[in-house]
Amino acid sequence: AKTAGRDTLQFYSPNMHTAMQERVQLEAQMRTSLEQGHFELFYQPQVHARKVIGCEALLRWRHPERGLVSPALFIPLAEDSGQILALGNWVLHTACAQLAAWSKVPLLAGLSIAINVSPRQFHQPDFVQRVLGAVAQTGADPRYLELELTESLLLQDVEDTIDKMLQLKRHGIAFSLDDFGTGYSSLAYLKRLPLDQLKIDQGFVRDVLTDANDAAIARTVVALGTSLGLSVIAEGVETAAQRDFLQGYGCNTWQGYFFSRPLPAAELADWVVQFNA
Ligand code: C2E
Ligand code: CA
Ligand code: CA
Ligand code: CA
Repeated sequence: AKTAGRDTLQFYSPNMHTAMQERVQLEAQMRTSLEQGHFELFYQPQVHARKVIGCEALLRWRHPERGLVSPALFIPLAEDSGQILALGNWVLHTACAQLAAWSKVPLLAGLSIAINVSPRQFHQPDFVQRVLGAVAQTGADPRYLELELTESLLLQDVEDTIDKMLQLKRHGIAFSLDDFGTGYSSLAYLKRLPLDQLKIDQGFVRDVLTDANDAAIARTVVALGTSLGLSVIAEGVETAAQRDFLQGYGCNTWQGYFFSRPLPAAELADWVVQFNA
């Protein structure tokens, strides 16, 4: 394994056979790790104007031998094997418990937590009951819970999707469309979905200052979201210049390394208190 960044590891396999063995092995280890508490949630702040308004929960796997394994590697595996259901449920409960804990701290009460929901998890027949169950069991205030969905998820079984969203929205749970601009949803279709927020994909933010096409897409997403009455957040903001440029388009909510990397809960709490001071 070669270290590719602070919190990612990439694996190179000399051949397909090894890659397959590695898949099987990782799947088995994922199961054990969930039982043994080797998964963690990190939290990355979301900033509106000059204040932190919430954070996104991002899953981390502290693998006993490999160190921190990136969700980009194991989420697709978990989706294929079905373990995403157990993993997703754990994320839901852990994030709700965190919300409930923060609600008792005056300087942290009112922060929202956004969690990523996989298609397979969302399309479970009892998804709504699972979310409401996690909220009830932990005592989390559902008005501070956000669910991040992707376009591919929303394109499956649209009627059922809208129905589930509306049931959850009745409890104050908000919906964000993740990676917006990378999929294929039509505008007419977007209008039908009871979304609250669009998230400009980091792929458009990266070169927003130098690539006229990316800038045009970012500006269009902001204009589209605004005209549909949605809030718009940009992710992957790494520099003050990117933040300012996006602000010039009317996007005042940002997330990215410029503010902070995803942090363990206790560090995030300290960071928020400092930033909002
Ligand atoms: P995502 O939902 O698009 O999350 C944003 C990713 O961008 C995160 O990667 C985050 O650490 C990274 N990021 C944040 N700011 C910056 C920045 O300024 N620059 C750059 N280059 N990257 C930035 P991460 O944590 O590795 O997660 C990767 C993906 O794994 C997520 O993409 C999401 O699709 C998935 N994922 C993470 N946690 C969960 C989870 O609990 N459940 C599910 N279903 N998927 C998850
Ligand atoms: Ca996300
Ligand atoms: Ca995203
Ligand atoms: Ca993504």
